[in-house]
Amino acid sequence: MALAFDEYGRPFILIKQQDEKGRLRGLDAQKANISAGKAVARILRTSLGPKGMDKMLQSPDGDVTITNDGATILEQMDVDNQIAKLMVELSQSQDYEIGDGTTGVVVMAGALLEQAEHLLERGIHPIRVAEGYEMASRIAVEHLEHISQKFEFGLDNIESLVQTCMTTLNSKIVNRCKRSLAEIAVKAVLAVADLERKDVNLDLIKIEGKVAGKLEDTELIYGITVDKEMSHPQMPKQIEDAKIAILTCAFEPPKPKTKHKVDIDTVEKFETLRLQEQKYFDDMVQKCKDVGATLVICQWGFDDEANHLLMNRNLPAIRWVGGVELELIAIATGGRIVPRFQELTPEKLGKAGLVREKAFGTTKDRMLYIEHCANSRAVTIFIRGGNKMMIEETKRSMHDALCVARNLIRNNSIVYGGGSAEISCSIAVEAAADKYPGVEQYAIRAFADALDCIPMALAENSGLQPIETLSAVKSQQIKENNSYCGIDCNDTGTNDMREQNVFETLIGKKQQILLATQVVKMILKIDDVISPFDY
Ligand code: ADP
Repeated sequence: MALAFDEYGRPFILIKQQDEKGRLRGLDAQKANISAGKAVARILRTSLGPKGMDKMLQSPDGDVTITNDGATILEQMDVDNQIAKLMVELSQSQDYEIGDGTTGVVVMAGALLEQAEHLLERGIHPIRVAEGYEMASRIAVEHLEHISQKFEFGLDNIESLVQTCMTTLNSKIVNRCKRSLAEIAVKAVLAVADLERKDVNLDLIKIEGKVAGKLEDTELIYGITVDKEMSHPQMPKQIEDAKIAILTCAFEPPKPKTKHKVDIDTVEKFETLRLQEQKYFDDMVQKCKDVGATLVICQWGFDDEANHLLMNRNLPAIRWVGGVELELIAIATGGRIVPRFQELTPEKLGKAGLVREKAFGTTKDRMLYIEHCANSRAVTIFIRGGNKMMIEETKRSMHDALCVARNLIRNNSIVYGGGSAEISCSIAVEAAADKYPGVEQYAIRAFADALDCIPMALAENSGLQPIETLSAVKSQQIKENNSYCGIDCNDTGTNDMREQNVFETLIGKKQQILLATQVVKMILKIDDVISPFDY
């Protein structure tokens, strides 16, 4: 230590090797990183599976989120540690690519880290552990391909898709309505899917929610919804084969842009002005009618006189529709947004099979449904629920179900869930380990043990004895040489996942194993942590 003075003569202390403060090296670095990763995985472990617990997260501004979705839990947690952040990103990348299995991937990575810790303690070099894990993951993925099965589905045979989506929804808060929600998800995906190219554009599926009503009232709308109502209560509430004029100009007489003054000093002059204004309105309405519009959707408002006139001339109208919604309506109905009445032509009108206004409950809440649109295959999932939290969680669960249905359209292979695929992989990896003469053998065995942790977590979360249940199921799989025995979480009396219809997509499961291995390898290879903070 040395004493020095700054330019104002104030003393300060110099500490030698200050840069080494907050630095961890070698095994210490790996151990610290592993325990950070494990801590994150421990949080999610209790959320896994159909009997998993939910988490309640409160944001700094008081918003509360209740969820079971791994990616959401981690996203909303305020994580400071850099390694813990890697785990958060791990779950997010599973979410981006696959959409489901976000809890499982983190639990898997946590188990791999825990096993790695034991190996490091026994003196095995981290690089050998990382390499062993890599080999084991390849064996596991190959085995998954081997035990996977193809699912046949068609537009009129959607049962298999529905069953797989139901497995995803099993573990969510909304599992009460899993059947109907899974059906909605599958129908929505099939409505926008391009089955020849095996591609699904999920952007075409809009998810909307409105508080009040029941979860059971959730519906799929073949079109779009707009949170607006007809401008006059006496206008028709339902228009079939609507021809829609989409306007960004206001229903009002033009105003001069410069300052002006009009002297009205006689009754006649006032009358002329009034008639002139009326003629303006009349011309506007006439222009819409001439091109054949049966509905006007306007970005701006219009005054009572115009509204009355529209009603009298039997031209229903909707006002104050936002720019984004207007664009969406234009795309869906194949219409063009018209900025001036003079530019209205019949070709610019949007077309929809049915436009209807729907009222909800006893509130004055009304919404417009624009259905069977001309051009677009856009659909809307309209979620109802008792409170905002429920709606938000349903939206997240719906997203998972949509992703699963999309994944199945891309690749229709499935493996069985309930931990059965993991147990089967674990047996295969364990058997393969003996063939490797090097130290990697230990890492490969450790990988097999880590795979067991998914079924163990499922059993533990369902109130079963984890080790007993796992060993019973494992020995049954070996004895009967099958890969569909899993954990009977719901106590149905059978652990045959084929009977219970618990399926997961092959690409989702593969991605889980590959991503978890990748992140764990990355963490193991860090042997020096330099940070500005003290440890
Ligand atoms: P994730 O976010 O990873 O999808 P979940 O909490 O949704 O995690 O749990 C998924 C796990 O629960 C999967 O391993 C799946 O096989 C299992 N699972 C789902 N439904 C059942 C069921 N009815 N019986 C047993 N296991 C199930």
